[in-house]
Amino acid sequence: MVEIRSVGVIGAGQMGAGIAHVCALGGYDVLLHDVSPDRIALGFGQIQHNLTRQVVRGIIDQATMDQAMNRLKAAPELQMIGGTDIAIEAATENEEVKKSIFKALTPHLGANTILASNTSSISITRLASASDRPERFIGLHFMNPVPLMKLVEIIRGIATDAPTYEIAVNFAKSLGKTTANAEDFPAFIVNRVLVPMINEAIYTLYEGVGTVDAIDTALKLGANHPMGPLELGDFIGLDTVLSIMNVLHEGLADSKYRPCPLLVKYVEAGWLGRKSGRGFYDYRGETPVPTR
Ligand code: NAD
Repeated sequence: MVEIRSVGVIGAGQMGAGIAHVCALGGYDVLLHDVSPDRIALGFGQIQHNLTRQVVRGIIDQATMDQAMNRLKAAPELQMIGGTDIAIEAATENEEVKKSIFKALTPHLGANTILASNTSSISITRLASASDRPERFIGLHFMNPVPLMKLVEIIRGIATDAPTYEIAVNFAKSLGKTTANAEDFPAFIVNRVLVPMINEAIYTLYEGVGTVDAIDTALKLGANHPMGPLELGDFIGLDTVLSIMNVLHEGLADSKYRPCPLLVKYVEAGWLGRKSGRGFYDYRGETPVPTR
């Protein structure tokens, strides 16, 4: 069985940076790529900030942080990722974007490189078909924020072979994560349950059943959720929430998954949540303020 020593991460947004963070802490050499070079710099900044927080909280020591930072390198060109043992794609939740990445990467891949996608909802079988190695392709769905959340959902495509599955499970465990297997159906397990709940909370707001504050307070105190659903939608990114609802709606052809028009409107406005400074809350001041 191939031993994983190096990891390539494609997409340096909140998830890609989080995955690079845990892999570097796990002792792997990590290359971080993004289509936009300033996102790589921002990703490094996020990793440095979060590692520092772990040092301050006594979770890791300074030497461990320094070693992790030394294992991280920027990869301005996608082809640099080709030589790694496992390439994990964590780019924008859009099937065409993801397929074009795998297509462009394929000619540069080492013979044994495993391909993984961190997609929240898109078919692993379809994404794998854009590469030359569907048998060495797997879904590794990390949760946000990656350094804190324990779960990695593992999704096998129709062609994923047993050694690839075993390597992927062992790799996730080596990062201190617990795995759960999901079949390759739209949005897998976590987001099949979680994201329609967020969409329903947005309908509740849209229909005037409650304000942003009332809906989030109700679910936090009434259902014991650590975050309200609107706050959680902002945290995930409303563009990602909408993409997942569209995958569920199209993939399962059931009207119960129709995205709320208010969610569509927020995304069209560029109000994507925390990452853009505004969503169901405005994050530009000291404390978040509801936008409705
Ligand atoms: P994000 O918007 O923070 O980051 C996406 C990054 O991908 C951006 O930096 C963008 O520049 C980059 N990108 C876009 N096209 C690219 C290309 N062609 N090549 C290289 N990089 C490209 O999004 P995110 O929240 O980090 O989500 C990334 C992936 O992780 C998505 O598939 C999403 O569904 C999944 N995911 C998200 C969450 C969450 O809570 N946000 C949780 C689990 C999984």
